[in-house]
Amino acid sequence: MNVMQGDFRSEAQAAHHDRTVDVPFEVQEAIRTLLRWSGEDPEREGLVDTPSRVGRAWREYCSGYHEDPAAHLKRTFEEVGGYDEIVVLRNIPFQSHCEHHLAPITGTASIAYLPTDRVVGISKLARVLHAFARRLQVQERLTAQIAQCIWDNLEPMGVAVVIKGSHGCLSARGVRTHGIDMVTSKMLGCFRDDASSRREVLALMDGS
Ligand code: ZN
Repeated sequence: MNVMQGDFRSEAQAAHHDRTVDVPFEVQEAIRTLLRWSGEDPEREGLVDTPSRVGRAWREYCSGYHEDPAAHLKRTFEEVGGYDEIVVLRNIPFQSHCEHHLAPITGTASIAYLPTDRVVGISKLARVLHAFARRLQVQERLTAQIAQCIWDNLEPMGVAVVIKGSHGCLSARGVRTHGIDMVTSKMLGCFRDDASSRREVLALMDGS
């Protein structure tokens, strides 16, 4: 079936309360196909609105594709009162999805940088994290992208990113093992090149 843009609203969706995001008919059809293939009846009452809900949920999970992470780092402050030490944002919760299974990755990220002459508002590092996390990811790339974005835009002396992630594709399928955290880190600048700076930043990120 060929459905043109602008002609995407299905009956199921028209009946739904939340119409803030239009879920194209093909997308809903794809989800119905998956439900049928899984052994379900997509027409039964409990599942009638599921395709449009899933479509909207996926738009949210993947909202990072419609966002420029670097935009969050454009507004900086140079008035830092002589502060020239490491800034750390620790244990920021995030959710992402693995590109191999579309399974959730939940975890926390700790992000640190050593400013040269400018800093950003406290929430901005978390916004950079979410802009990359709300895409299909592998944890290694997520870690590297956040570090590189801060490095390129704030031009600090050093950047450190440490991510602990729990992968749905490990806990809910395959080896079905719970309680495994995957830890990835990316160090740039002084945190990569200087062992004592790295020790200091890792202690700050780890400390409780
Ligand atoms: Zn996976």
